[in-house]
Amino acid sequence: MNRKLTVALTKGRILKETIPLLARAGIEPLEDIGLSRKLVFDTSHEDVQLVVIRGTDVPTYVRHGAADLGVVGKDILLEHGAEGLYEPLDLGIARCRLMTAGPVGWQSSGARIRVATKFVNITRRHFASVGVHADVIKLYGAMELAPIMNLADLIVDIVDTGNTLRANGMEPLDEIACISSRLIVNKAAMRSRCGAVQRVVDDLSEIVHAAT
Ligand code: AMP
Repeated sequence: MNRKLTVALTKGRILKETIPLLARAGIEPLEDIGLSRKLVFDTSHEDVQLVVIRGTDVPTYVRHGAADLGVVGKDILLEHGAEGLYEPLDLGIARCRLMTAGPVGWQSSGARIRVATKFVNITRRHFASVGVHADVIKLYGAMELAPIMNLADLIVDIVDTGNTLRANGMEPLDEIACISSRLIVNKAAMRSRCGAVQRVVDDLSEIVHAAT
């Protein structure tokens, strides 16, 4: 089988920083991804196609071999696991921090705290590691609203500039992890399509290391 090498990209903020990196590696989508409703894009590299999906779906496509490579935030890998994947390169893009945060001046008053987050596994591990009983409440967005509405005491969320927290009367507390986007590779593809995959990894690696 000689199908194109498929790279799964995370749409949104990460995509904006991924496109210039890929372009420098000679992989440019043949149409403007931002202006299209398509999900699969041919590129200037005749052997490479791109698919553009949600970050949480990128490891799934790569793990099952539906995509050979992917670009995804480390937060997703920490939360959902990196089984069946190689993670050969830190692309150094979309840098941010995964943090606990609370209302300005918040102090713990009880033995248990309620924490709202979409990162439930990371949050459970974090509070267990610091010996705090946390009742973790799963949300899918707008975590900052939870303390305002007294749904939770604290949140765990991604912080970049801190503007979202400040705008909602909150402040960052503890840093759980530094986050950036990673190149991931399907383990079987790394063996069966070794030459083609390794070339993309090497090209991106050179570009990333030249920039640092
Ligand atoms: P900020 O207000 O700059 O601290 O940005 C925080 C919000 O932007 C968070 O709620 C995140 O959902 C989102 N965000 C910022 N940086 C990233 C990133 N690198 N990856 C994913 N989401 C991000």
